[in-house]
Amino acid sequence: MSQTRILVTGGAGFIGSHYVRTLLGPFGPDDVSVTVLDAFTYAASPASLDEVSDSPRFRLVVGDIRDPDTVDRLVAEHDHVVHFAAESHVDRSLASSAEFVTTNVLGTHVLLDAALRHGTQTFVHVSTDEVYGSIPAGSSSEEQPLNPNSPYSASKASSDLIALAYHRSHGLDVRVTRCSNNYGHHQFPEKIIPLFVTNLLDGRKVPLYGDGLHIRDWLHIDDHVRGIELVRTKGRAGEVYNIGGGTELSNTDLTALLLQTCGASWDAVEYVADRKGHDRRYSVDWSKAHVELGYKPQKDFTEGLAETVDWYRDNRDWWEPLKAGPALAVPAARTGTTGAVAC
Ligand code: NAD
Repeated sequence: MSQTRILVTGGAGFIGSHYVRTLLGPFGPDDVSVTVLDAFTYAASPASLDEVSDSPRFRLVVGDIRDPDTVDRLVAEHDHVVHFAAESHVDRSLASSAEFVTTNVLGTHVLLDAALRHGTQTFVHVSTDEVYGSIPAGSSSEEQPLNPNSPYSASKASSDLIALAYHRSHGLDVRVTRCSNNYGHHQFPEKIIPLFVTNLLDGRKVPLYGDGLHIRDWLHIDDHVRGIELVRTKGRAGEVYNIGGGTELSNTDLTALLLQTCGASWDAVEYVADRKGHDRRYSVDWSKAHVELGYKPQKDFTEGLAETVDWYRDNRDWWEPLKAGPALAVPAARTGTTGAVAC
């Protein structure tokens, strides 16, 4: 059987590793092989790929998407590129944004150039709802002008525009996805859900930004991965697809659920100074993905959250070394609990 060879950048991170485990797992397609290209920054975890490391259809390359030689060689060997690699944490982009520009913008450009040279069949660029900026009411459609506010979201918006320009100028089959806030197992414990859960499991306080009324739409990792696969296999070249989760919550409401699930009280909450330029609300209209591709989020949030908490409770050996490591010893880009940074 001929196989579609997929190059997955950032495949050792939270979403990328879930995508790879899903593709090579028992319910994944059997006509794909996967190469992960990952630089193994602080956000990567080799253990996240343990499940697939013995698969004959899996290969791991440790390398940087900013390295033109590595990228050129790998892109030449593959049919599709699914591009997750990025610096992904807003707080870190407020503290220092150079890596965000070089990885998210220049790294994407290096990949696109190689894809153009080698005639890549399909290039899926994974982006974020944050590129639309804050929306007080309603939901952002794919047509909405981009209005990013943080260095992170600005770097992602820049990479979206370059990716789409490679379609419009050169005809490269680029498809862009913009998803809302992901949650699930194997997420680095700096983002709000794994940070709060692991703090609560350790009997520590959790830092809540500002008035706690910032609103996010929550998307289970399984739903996101299904959405990306629909875009890769059925989407159209040059199109943008929003992928939403359908559960809008303020950070206060989310915190209440986490406290309840972990058996903790509001005494565990420490209100800290707000993040600079903190977007108030994100919400994406995912009707295009629904109508064109049949996408619909399936995971019930309460169930998904309980499973996520259980996973962190049962897998301390995955997250304890990460929390003890140097990545979380870096002071946060705000005042408040040292070393505790929230999404
Ligand atoms: P993550 O931080 O968990 O993982 C990023 C991965 O990219 C890591 O494995 C890291 O080692 C790798 N990487 C970073 N710089 C690299 C480089 N220069 N070369 C090669 N590899 C490099 O991120 P994530 O949460 O899995 O996000 C994946 C993608 O989804 C990102 O593009 C992000 O912008 C986007 N996204 C994430 C969310 C979310 O809720 N997590 C929401 C919207 C969009």
